[in-house]
Amino acid sequence: MQRTQGKPYAETFRCPAGALCLDFCNTGQGARGARGTEWITEFNDLVDWLEAAEAIGKAQATGLHRSAAAAPESASQVWARSISFREGLFRVLAARTRGHAAAREDLALIEVENARTLPFARLSWMGERYAWSEDAAASTSEAALRPIVRSGVELLASEKLARLQRCGNSTCYWLFLDETRNHSRRWCEMASCGNLLKVRRFREKSRPVGSNPAGRVK
Ligand SMILES: [Zn+2]
Repeated sequence: MQRTQGKPYAETFRCPAGALCLDFCNTGQGARGARGTEWITEFNDLVDWLEAAEAIGKAQATGLHRSAAAAPESASQVWARSISFREGLFRVLAARTRGHAAAREDLALIEVENARTLPFARLSWMGERYAWSEDAAASTSEAALRPIVRSGVELLASEKLARLQRCGNSTCYWLFLDETRNHSRRWCEMASCGNLLKVRRFREKSRPVGSNPAGRVK
């Protein structure tokens, strides 16, 4: 867990979204818009993030790090696939928050990754029923994709999708499930985006008509 300290993607644990795939989508915050700074910069980052998110255990994380050291090229390809999957899923979900249909090619990308990572899917007894989980012993680098892909396809097919929101700050890309009873959550975090927007509105109200607009926030 120490590896996540000081990493920009640790933000996703400070401000959780309510589903693993959404937290993973939010690791794209650094790369989107005008920022252009990828938070998950290599396969080992991906493994550290998954371990910190408790999507994989320590033993599997160690195995995945080892397999990346032994076959860096295939690990790098898996990292690239994780980023493409993340951005495809983000586009589908962001479209959903606007009530728009997803692009067919983005859904196809998700379908392809689901099919490719299914060999790592396992049925586990949950006390009352079986549920899909992952093969925790798998150490080939491709296994790192499965928890994210499973979470993505499960959310897309779940009634929780109706609770999906994007932060109300138009320059913020944070997605989250609004679990409030009256569907009132508007911000990824009140302390950052919520307050910034309040300040911006206050400035706009108090600005003389015809003056230049204030600089962009966040
Ligand atoms: Zn936000």
